[in-house]
Amino acid sequence: MRLTVVGCTGSMSGPYSAASSYLVQARGADPDTGQVRTWNVMMDLGPGSFGALWRYIDARKLDAVLFSHLHADHMGDVISLQVHRRWYPTGPLPPLLLAGPEGMMDRVRGIDGYAPDETYEKEFVPVQLADREPLQVGPLTITPYAANHTVPAFGFRVEGPSEGDPSSRVELAYTGDTDTCDSIQEMANGVSLLLSEAGFTRADTTRGIHLTGGRAAKIAREAGVESLVLTHIQPWTDPKIVIAEAREEWDGAISTAYAGATYSL
Ligand SMILES: [Zn+2]
Ligand SMILES: [Zn+2]
Repeated sequence: MRLTVVGCTGSMSGPYSAASSYLVQARGADPDTGQVRTWNVMMDLGPGSFGALWRYIDARKLDAVLFSHLHADHMGDVISLQVHRRWYPTGPLPPLLLAGPEGMMDRVRGIDGYAPDETYEKEFVPVQLADREPLQVGPLTITPYAANHTVPAFGFRVEGPSEGDPSSRVELAYTGDTDTCDSIQEMANGVSLLLSEAGFTRADTTRGIHLTGGRAAKIAREAGVESLVLTHIQPWTDPKIVIAEAREEWDGAISTAYAGATYSL
């Protein structure tokens, strides 16, 4: 299983990155052809990320797109995805699995500016996420965990085949947007890689919206993860501050995400 950071800037696009968007890939059998191929799943599709995705894969080859929640910084580029699928020069692309919290398609229509009777049925197969109800996409098992944010939100625990030994399974977890909570703590339990938002620093005292580097590192420590990658850092925040706050909580493997970073598990 491989994770590629397509976009990682917090709350908006930034000078060096699109907003939140992560590509998870794994090799597995395709039941339609019987052939082993690479499966491609996006977690979030923030502003600017759909174009950036083309650097890594042929965007026609997406298998699923999952929204952790419906804030625009995590799903705004659905408008680019929709145009790509409906108006591809050689003909429309088949409907794509699109999963997110309740109200997702109303949100897509709202961003897109389409009428309420637009179904997008030729572009998307909408799936409503539910807490702890796993989704299977090829060899990847993706389990949503309820998060602690200002709107319904999920983190994702993703299990898939190891790159080095496809007969063994590895796990990563992505927090989406969240503050500390039991559910996200449980999601992170024992994963190889925890991709955690750190949208706030200690200077931000409001609770119930975002983690800080320190709170993310505390989750990592208590969950016994192998490595922590901090993301969703706003462009006005110095990542060194976020890392320093994380270091106070955990002396394990901590880094910050950047556009183009890949992690092989
Ligand atoms: Zn966000
Ligand atoms: Zn949010």
